Amino acid sequence: MSKKVAVLTSGGDAPGMNACIRAIVLACEREGHSIVGYKHGYNGLLNQEYQALDSSMVHNLTQRGGTILHSARCEAFKTNDGAKKAAENLRWLDIDTLIVIGGDGSFRGAAHLAKFWSGQILGLPGTIDNDINGTDATIGYFTAIETAVQSIDKVRDTADAFERIFLVEVMGRHAGFLAMNGALASASDYVILPELFESEETTLQDILSQLSEKREQRGNVSYIIVLTENLWPGGINRLVSQLEAKTDTDVRPVILGHVQRGGSPVSQDRLLALKLGAHAATLIGTSANLIMVGEKNGNPVEVCLPDTWAEQKPLDNCTVSTLKMLINNRYA
Ligand code: ADP
Repeated sequence: MSKKVAVLTSGGDAPGMNACIRAIVLACEREGHSIVGYKHGYNGLLNQEYQALDSSMVHNLTQRGGTILHSARCEAFKTNDGAKKAAENLRWLDIDTLIVIGGDGSFRGAAHLAKFWSGQILGLPGTIDNDINGTDATIGYFTAIETAVQSIDKVRDTADAFERIFLVEVMGRHAGFLAMNGALASASDYVILPELFESEETTLQDILSQLSEKREQRGNVSYIIVLTENLWPGGINRLVSQLEAKTDTDVRPVILGHVQRGGSPVSQDRLLALKLGAHAATLIGTSANLIMVGEKNGNPVEVCLPDTWAEQKPLDNCTVSTLKMLINNRYA
């Protein structure tokens, strides 16, 4: 039976969100559902800022970074009054199914809305941080790794030329997926991750002993340390000062920041986005509710929304072992 579907993108934007919107719109059209897109995340729900979507509007969209629906954060939505208003607006538009593409914050928002709205809610994991349980990867994660690796490769050239230490801060919020994979694929010398972080002292000692070992073997060398954002007490500049005080070397910080959110999605993100979006469309009008569609071992999975944020998603053992063997060998 034909349904009225709404889609929005919320929270931190991620490359591949557009591909996901395209998949949902095309699949909905095929199934005879009508679809609207709310703008600016949950703000659009509060302000009734929406537009009808059809296949002509998602032409040439798969390769585009960002999100045509725009994303945003919305404090007002977190209140009961905010969510009640959003529910009222959804009822006014006769929406049967709301699809939220976003991270764990957006999923918490969806669960909050469900207290006041009885329609169907489906989530799709869109975040560069890959910090969502129940799915092997999230939309945008692969592109962000690629961006980090390309940037660190460039840092390596200049670090080599001056035999400097570089500290490269990557995103990840409170998860080390981006840092771990970015460091491994760029053959960085050390990586500081929340999941393996013990203390400032042990980390500093570890870096210094590895650095002096390398210098003994190869003379004055460049050294690249990848740091996960929000982790080092006092931030990256404090770590720069600490390292400069203990080594006789220039230490330069590079904060990759929002470049990691931008750019055309790599194929892996496009494919993930298209598969998850298409699978979500098959669930419209079924009893599936308050679930995220993710992917495990190449197959779509449906995961209860609260399970996606209940625990910190663990790093995968195989990559951690490789990391311990090749980079942070103190942990081996
Ligand atoms: P992400 O989805 O990338 O994790 P945020 O954590 O910023 O991004 O969340 C996006 C939006 O989701 C917030 O601005 C807010 O509107 C909504 N949201 C987040 N957490 C909650 C919560 N606990 N209750 C209700 N709404 C929430």
